[in-house]
Amino acid sequence: MPIDPAPLKAFLVEQLGEAGVIDDPADLPRYTTDWAGDRRGEPLLVARPRTTDEVASVVAHCRRHGIPMVPQGGHSGLVGGALPDDARPELVISLERLNRIRAIDPLNFTISVDAGCVLQTVKDAAADHDCDFPLSLGAQGSCQIGGNVATNAGGLNVLRHGMMRQLVLGLEVVLPDGRIWNAMHALHKDNRGYDLKQLFIGAEGTLGIVTGAVLRLSPRTHNTRTALVAVPDVAAAMALYGQARRSCCDLLSAFELIPRACLELAFEADPSLPDPLGSPYPIYVLLEVAASGPLDLDALIEHLFETGMAAGQILDGVLAGSDTQAERLWQIRERMVEGQQLRGEHLRTDIALPISTLADFFAAASRRMVERSPDTTVIAYGHIGDGNLHFNLLPPAGLTLADKKALLHELETELFALVDDHHGSISAEHGIGRVKQAPYLAGLAPVERELLEGIKRLFDPEELMSPGRILPRRH
Ligand SMILES: Cc1cc2nc3c(=O)[nH]c(=O)nc-3n(C[C@H](O)[C@H](O)[C@H](O)COP(=O)(O)OP(=O)(O)OC[C@H]3O[C@@H](n4cnc5c(N)ncnc54)[C@H](O)[C@@H]3O)c2cc1C
Repeated sequence: MPIDPAPLKAFLVEQLGEAGVIDDPADLPRYTTDWAGDRRGEPLLVARPRTTDEVASVVAHCRRHGIPMVPQGGHSGLVGGALPDDARPELVISLERLNRIRAIDPLNFTISVDAGCVLQTVKDAAADHDCDFPLSLGAQGSCQIGGNVATNAGGLNVLRHGMMRQLVLGLEVVLPDGRIWNAMHALHKDNRGYDLKQLFIGAEGTLGIVTGAVLRLSPRTHNTRTALVAVPDVAAAMALYGQARRSCCDLLSAFELIPRACLELAFEADPSLPDPLGSPYPIYVLLEVAASGPLDLDALIEHLFETGMAAGQILDGVLAGSDTQAERLWQIRERMVEGQQLRGEHLRTDIALPISTLADFFAAASRRMVERSPDTTVIAYGHIGDGNLHFNLLPPAGLTLADKKALLHELETELFALVDDHHGSISAEHGIGRVKQAPYLAGLAPVERELLEGIKRLFDPEELMSPGRILPRRH
């Protein structure tokens, strides 16, 4: 039976005040349309609680009345998890007003925050205390800590600092029945039994709503060097990666693959960007070395350049001479994602391979895609220091939208079969949501699926919390 939103609205207004509920169609699009603008969903209403207790009271009400819910952070997720479901309208619970920095302890290297804090705000707060919160990603001006926890976000510095899973020490979660689980521990070591918090990290909101987190900080990096080098091929890029990890004293903090086609996309998005090395090369690597103290990083990078050139791994390169120059190099990485968006319909993937097989995979997948569809353009870049590739495809121009979608679906199936052959993963960091559910389920062993469904049933027997994300609904 359809849910009548009127009594729900009355309850929310009473609990959260007028500003805590949104149902005006003019205000809804930012909660109902995803980042790329190509998916949307109609909610019952949008609730905007300000405290953990308010979240708990809203969730308990929904549980009592059988109302499905979906938590929403900064809405930058790329797999449709935070979008309300049209088929069975849901209450969107936005965490945007739950956004206080609760405490920071620079000696313990921890910060305790509300889940609705924007990632950039947390990074700035840490910097004020001579610390870094090292999670860095393109959407950091809008994504929230709760969303980062729920998606186990990765980004640019994973090879040095790990993913969100490695950066969370404590959590506070409102469970699907409205109870609050408070485990806001600021402990670097804690071996008391099962590590429950890990269940919520990467659960994409299906097991509860994260309302607070204690995060691990690192000493602030005052000393950073950024370089862009041209390499002959992906195999050389990977060999250079192995060399860089070793010869940069484990201070390597980013290692990004950028083929020439991606550079061209960055120029399309921002024609003022200069070609960084003057003449074009087939493949580039953007790398960063960072330290908290006054080490001679130039010497490390120069040594890497010398050995890389002698080994034929580096053809040319530039070391940024100032922060502004470094920023210009990083802009290439950011702008190429925008350029890809400007090209319209495309396949976006987020795959992971064992680092040692990435070059073979890259060659095999590029060959296979061209065999299947010679006019399709491969746009494959990524955090290759973590074995993470965004192996994306732009379909040929001139096809109808329906034909483009059908072709991309076919190519995605081929690509994922190759990922499987190379013992990889179809999701390195974006998660499953609804968009990647079919290939995810196809790759699950029966015993794995049984365990996962059991966990979901234990936390959310009525399937009211983010139903249909990761696992399909049972009813
Ligand atoms: C330009 C761009 C670059 C990106 N780069 C990267 C990258 O390098 N690495 C990477 O990992 N990701 C990247 N992403 C994806 C995205 O930014 C991350 O997945 C991010 O962690 C999502 O956070 P959010 O607050 O926007 O979450 P949302 O999009 O709002 O939600 C994502 C999922 O988390 C759930 N959720 C949100 N808040 C909570 C909460 N408080 N409790 C429980 N569940 C919740 C939602 O229901 C949904 O399933 C990028 C996205 C964009 C647009």
